[in-house]
Amino acid sequence: MLHLACDTHTHTIFSRHAYSTVEENVRAAAERRFELLGVTDHFSPMIHGVGPEGASMREFQEFINMRMWPRVWYGIQLMHGCEADIVDLDGHLFGWDVPVTYHLSVPAEPPYTMLQNQVFSQCDYVVASVHEHRWADDATREQVTQMYLRALEHPKVLILGHPGRSGLDFDAEAVAEAARDAGKLIEINEGSLFGRNHAHERCAEIARACARVGCMVSTASDAHISYDVARLDRVRELLEGVDFPPRLVATRDAETFQGVWRRALGL
Ligand SMILES: [Zn+2]
Ligand SMILES: [Zn+2]
Repeated sequence: MLHLACDTHTHTIFSRHAYSTVEENVRAAAERRFELLGVTDHFSPMIHGVGPEGASMREFQEFINMRMWPRVWYGIQLMHGCEADIVDLDGHLFGWDVPVTYHLSVPAEPPYTMLQNQVFSQCDYVVASVHEHRWADDATREQVTQMYLRALEHPKVLILGHPGRSGLDFDAEAVAEAARDAGKLIEINEGSLFGRNHAHERCAEIARACARVGCMVSTASDAHISYDVARLDRVRELLEGVDFPPRLVATRDAETFQGVWRRALGL
């Protein structure tokens, strides 16, 4: 049976439509004998209604104190990040054009730092995902492919989140080759695999493309409650079903995942 020991994309109550705390998620990962948990709350227009006119860090303070978390808790290597929305066809990530005009309790002075820089600087890594995508409704396959390639180029992005779920068509092999060359990861996401639906077939295609070109994958529950943390049965079944090479599974143990993380982000 394919061994998976890391859950690299999970949510806590700071994602608002999620229901568990960091500690509850860590304990769930420990109970399931995992080695590593990545907590990656949404950094997204779904949660945060801000625009180019500016943002207050009061609305984002869950992201600016993560250094307080223990690095090892209940025996689990605990990493902190965020799941940032891809917001346009240029592959920009949420917050890239939003100046921070207010700190926690006082107005900021120009030149303003950008919200994305402020949040990403506190993250071990970023998962880049497409959620709402009206801006891509008329996009060609080539444009969507370019969008993912550009998102991958961001120095803080380690993982492309659930690319099989958005419904946007792209050249999976080209994206997998770029991820491989950057030493970055494409995610196989449990949350995309409920029911035998279109996303299931698309995720299998993406896994096969990764295997063909030698791109590593990460595995994640995308849990929005601790009950789902470290439950990766569908991900395991999918990877086994396409004979995915275990050596390309970055999340088979914590040491492998952290090695990939350090090399990809130049740490
Ligand atoms: Zn969510
Ligand atoms: Zn997501």
